[in-house]
Amino acid sequence: MHVYEAVVIGAGQAGLSASYHLQRLGIDHVLLDADERAGGAWRHRWDSLTMDDVHGVADLPDSAAPGRGPDRANAVIPDWFAAYEQSHGLPVVRPVRVDRVDSDGELLVVRAGERSWTTRTLVNATGTWSRPFVPRYPGQETFRGEQLHTADYPGPDHFRGKRVVVVGGGASAVQFLGELRPVTETVWVTRREPVWRNGGEIDGRAVVQLVERRVRQGLPPASVVSHTGLALRPQERLAEILGAYRRRPMFARIEADGVRWADGTFEPADVILWATGFRPAVGHLAPLRLRSEYGGIALLPGTTDVQTSVTAARDPRVQLVGYGPSASTIGGNRAGRAAALAVRRFLEEQDERAA
Ligand code: FAD
Repeated sequence: MHVYEAVVIGAGQAGLSASYHLQRLGIDHVLLDADERAGGAWRHRWDSLTMDDVHGVADLPDSAAPGRGPDRANAVIPDWFAAYEQSHGLPVVRPVRVDRVDSDGELLVVRAGERSWTTRTLVNATGTWSRPFVPRYPGQETFRGEQLHTADYPGPDHFRGKRVVVVGGGASAVQFLGELRPVTETVWVTRREPVWRNGGEIDGRAVVQLVERRVRQGLPPASVVSHTGLALRPQERLAEILGAYRRRPMFARIEADGVRWADGTFEPADVILWATGFRPAVGHLAPLRLRSEYGGIALLPGTTDVQTSVTAARDPRVQLVGYGPSASTIGGNRAGRAAALAVRRFLEEQDERAA
């Protein structure tokens, strides 16, 4: 049986960065990815999301990100990732959907159906795309219209002539309203009053620190974007003029033909579009019991050589990248490097103990 020094799960930005750095450090590893082809979550984003619409994609180590333009992000970024995997000879195996990771003494066993990989350490880079989150509201099952999540967004044409309730206070909701309002009737509802960023620059470091603090305490990570505030871009101005961003508080229940607020007011709806985010796709790690009593996976604070928090407090064999404070393309990149360094340190310490 071959024992890898590391297994990386997930070949999005974070997993590719981790694999690149592991390779540079000469660490024997394999990169398992559930998708048929390269691209991570970007492969699954909607066709109307162009490179002009993305908020900004960070470079991969040793490879500049594609520039802005009218081309589809779900084609441009996967092509870039595919070329990267190939030109750096990254050890990607796909499609492999890992369903569980077990601890076996000092080793970890990564399982996908009948197949398994045994390893000394694990870098988990599975993102969030495969775990869309839809909150529950009374009467939801009685709705006769269509309910879609961000992960299913088919582009604006699908909604023409339909009355759409868009739920959620994040960047995706803002983007959807920007596309939908010019072609159909929309109602925007959010749980909290949206926080608009009035032209000011984002203090990225402060935002990451806020999320990092939660994760060190073992709380479920909040999205980085939830701390940056919202901003309208030129492509959303028409929707703004048409009133798309007049937000209403959350409705109390869903009925067959629409949604009703606690004060009795009713809005008819043909579609409810849940732009309500995603959760970390970490179910396959459950056998390792990494979760804290607060529901999240606590990460150790960074150190002088590994500055980003990536190491699971309950099991230092496991690194989480693209999780919590590193859930952005720039964060994923940095976390990939930090994870490779943490893996090397763990392996060295274990070898020293064994010597
Ligand atoms: P992903 O890209 O999600 O990759 C995870 C990989 O893991 C996938 O290939 C998947 O197949 C694989 N995987 C999952 N589960 C398993 C499993 N069990 N076994 C094997 N493989 C598995 N960030 C930015 O910096 N700029 C932006 O403009 C931006 N726009 C965004 C727009 C939207 C709509 C969303 C939802 C997010 C956006 N983000 C953006 C956030 C950013 O996309 C992500 O933080 C980042 O791309 C995630 O990279 P990742 O490597 O962590 O995960």
